[in-house]
Amino acid sequence: MKKIILLGAPGSGKGTLAEGLTARYRIPQISTGDILRQNIADGTELGKKAKGYMEKGELVPDALVLDLIADRLAKPDAREGYMLDGFPRTIAQAEALDKTLAESGSKIDLVVYLNTPKDELVRRIAGRRLCEVCGKSYNVNNKEFAPSVDGRCDVCGGKLIQRPDDTEAVAENRIDVYNEQTLPLVEYYRKAGTLTELDGMGPVAEKLDEMGKLIEA
Ligand code: AMP
Repeated sequence: MKKIILLGAPGSGKGTLAEGLTARYRIPQISTGDILRQNIADGTELGKKAKGYMEKGELVPDALVLDLIADRLAKPDAREGYMLDGFPRTIAQAEALDKTLAESGSKIDLVVYLNTPKDELVRRIAGRRLCEVCGKSYNVNNKEFAPSVDGRCDVCGGKLIQRPDDTEAVAENRIDVYNEQTLPLVEYYRKAGTLTELDGMGPVAEKLDEMGKLIEA
């Protein structure tokens, strides 16, 4: 099993691809955004500290995210491999990850960079809806991912809601933050020789096949 990073802007399709690949390869998907949102829902100290940053579309401070990821990577299911979705997001996070892995004689095997144009990112983010009951994700701006009945989950009938940071204004800020703080990671991993770039446009099934080939190589 491999240690994989999915790199890309908000809305580039990291979460959707990670979900599909997790099912296919049984690699755990580790999303720092999901873990942070769960902490907010549970009312933990971490959740209280992270909430304000997330609502504005800013990054949560590195120290908090690094503690969270250290705990998650120490779990037994992450021993052999994982797919990181939304981490690292800064050079400091990438360096900390490399250092932790090197201490146990390990390293990142593959970084897949999903390159997607900005107008498409905003369209996808603004159209994203989540089932408040089961968490299934939909997109009202894309026929392939639209719910059969407006506002209702196909799986459980739950109400579909929009993430507070998926509004167009916050999405714009998240993309700016990404360009400033996360995009430099493309060069970081290119230099490390682990980066593969994929076009973020096109059908999900096609992207899953392209990623599958990389994972199996
Ligand atoms: P995501 O679900 O990946 O879009 O993340 C949602 C929000 O969680 C981001 O806008 C950040 O506020 C926060 N977040 C998630 N991952 C990180 C990270 N690695 N570093 C800092 N903040 C993060």
